[in-house]
Amino acid sequence: MSKQLDTQEIWDMIIVGVGPAGLAAALNGRIREKRTLILAADRTPPRLQKAPLIKNYPGFNGITGEDLYQRFYQHAHDMGVEFRAERVENIYPGANFTVVTRSNKIYIGRTVILAIGIQQNRQLEGERELVGRGLGYCATCDGPLYRNKDVAVLGETPEAEEEVNFLAAIGRNVYYFPLYEGDIKVDQKVDVRREQPQAILGEERVRAIALPDREIPVDGVFIIRTVAPAERLIAELLQADGAIVVDHTMITNVPGLFAAGDCTGKPYQIGKAVGEGLTAAQSAIHYLDSKKEA
Ligand SMILES: Cc1cc2nc3c(=O)[nH]c(=O)nc-3n(C[C@H](O)[C@H](O)[C@H](O)COP(=O)(O)OP(=O)(O)OC[C@H]3O[C@@H](n4cnc5c(N)ncnc54)[C@H](O)[C@@H]3O)c2cc1C
Repeated sequence: MSKQLDTQEIWDMIIVGVGPAGLAAALNGRIREKRTLILAADRTPPRLQKAPLIKNYPGFNGITGEDLYQRFYQHAHDMGVEFRAERVENIYPGANFTVVTRSNKIYIGRTVILAIGIQQNRQLEGERELVGRGLGYCATCDGPLYRNKDVAVLGETPEAEEEVNFLAAIGRNVYYFPLYEGDIKVDQKVDVRREQPQAILGEERVRAIALPDREIPVDGVFIIRTVAPAERLIAELLQADGAIVVDHTMITNVPGLFAAGDCTGKPYQIGKAVGEGLTAAQSAIHYLDSKKEA
């Protein structure tokens, strides 16, 4: 599939994630008049929206997560932050960052701030070993390898339904395991299973999905998660104990790349996410200024 360059422009800051960390980073970028873009997976709301009642965010005692989110979002919007509903798939460092989305668009940024929240579910048995050997995370990217083959998709989010439909058009048997509630809108050809896969089986390559009482033979498996593990987005990124390693200025080990919010570790709280978003933006501005002087 050919990739499209969305615009010819280069953004000063590309922020991945529209939760409190991403929004705080973005509006601080705009205060310093940086060209700031937020890319966020639109059908996966930030965790903030799920908080029923917030009692520990100063000045907003008893507000709901949804109300606070709307206030944060409106503030960033009013400051001129630009938004695109895009799930980021890969980030490549270089003179500038090349950010590739699941819809195969490319955005170029001088700096990138990761504000992607945390991955709540653990990896499945066999997942780590079989990545790249029949197991992938983006059907629209790797799906063509499974033309006329049997393939299974495990989806944590309704966004996975588009990927399933893409596979339905080219695969032989397509099994879909939705791991969320609600209606499923997929091609009639797809075999939808409301079961919880236990493991991905295979030695050299994927050979089957293990269910509690049987196995389903498949040639390939795609897992579509709400939050991609950060190391999948950017291979060079240093992590420890499931969190992105940053210093107190939110600098990662990759020059020009910063991280903020839940993805940098505990405590998983709004106040921390907002403070880190601000700090990451200021560090990104400092980095941009230092490159201008060089
Ligand atoms: C039920 C509940 C109650 C809570 N109550 C409180 C409370 O009372 N007080 C408190 O302080 N905290 C509370 N929290 C925690 C708080 O919501 C989080 O700490 C906060 O939302 C973290 O902000 P964040 O910006 O780091 O991540 P998130 O809010 O999780 O946002 C992450 C964003 O990244 C996006 N994203 C992820 N991967 C990609 C990708 N590959 N491409 C594009 N976008 C991507 C997601 O779509 C999302 O927009 C609660 C959380 C929950 C779930």
